[in-house]
Amino acid sequence: MSRIPPDHPRYLSLVTRDKVVEGVKIGITDIHGLIAHGRGETFDYLIGEKTTDMAAYAQRAAVAMLLLAKRPVISVNGNTAALVPDELVTLADITRAKLEVNLFHRSEARIHKIIRHLKSRGAGVVLGHKGDARLDLSHGRAIVDKDGIYSADVMLVPLEDGDRCQTLVNMDKKVIAIDLNPLSRTSLSATVSIVDNIIRSIPNMIQFARDMKEVEPYRLQKVVDLYDNRKVLSSAMYEINETLKNEAVRQGIPWNNFPENE
Ligand code: ATP
Ligand code: MG
Repeated sequence: MSRIPPDHPRYLSLVTRDKVVEGVKIGITDIHGLIAHGRGETFDYLIGEKTTDMAAYAQRAAVAMLLLAKRPVISVNGNTAALVPDELVTLADITRAKLEVNLFHRSEARIHKIIRHLKSRGAGVVLGHKGDARLDLSHGRAIVDKDGIYSADVMLVPLEDGDRCQTLVNMDKKVIAIDLNPLSRTSLSATVSIVDNIIRSIPNMIQFARDMKEVEPYRLQKVVDLYDNRKVLSSAMYEINETLKNEAVRQGIPWNNFPENE
């Protein structure tokens, strides 16, 4: 990893970027993951690089859903394995979810590398290598495990592709997405859309899971029933709008005060 001075104003962002680069170097992250990460960074800038109240509301509902699930599965791709491997193992443990590696740019070698990577961080069984079932999709993410994603009732899909998210929803699964872009097809089609960075979201969800683990199911069900994903999506869009508006106002030029045909 390159040496980033801790007093650099973009320290956390640069260290996070380095983790994805390291993921590519050790062969767990596909090179396209760098571009996906860059898109995420852009949206993170626009939401102020913080977990908004509405994102926390979505995280809490998501955890309630995972705790209530009969067959919860957490889908892992190359970026998430590079960024939050320990946290994924912990969250899976507390929520009794299975971990399954599922890749857009699928290769058997990379699947096994990610499985080994997660196991080295303490994961027990990690699915994804059997590939004995198919979703109705034309790319690598169609190949899944029968006793994992295929039969899951609730799925956590950090950094998902829009097509598959829609396909999973069509299969009547409850789909929890973590995606910084509130305009992506993933965010727009998920059951719960967490518009937050995975590096903040998974640790927050671990905390919620610890707090809610002993809560009675009917109370968890109430959290799920009262949840409104439309509010979450629109608030993320307003939040971005606010950030831009405030910044524009800070420049001191009122809106519409531009000379025409200058
Ligand atoms: P879609 O297929 O859903 O329309 P897309 O094709 O734009 O979206 P993908 O490449 O399929 O995007 O998935 C990557 C998504 O993950 C992007 O929307 C990006 O904003 C998001 N993303 C990237 N890095 C992070 C991160 N660290 N935390 C949360 N989201 C992230
Ligand atoms: Mg996509």
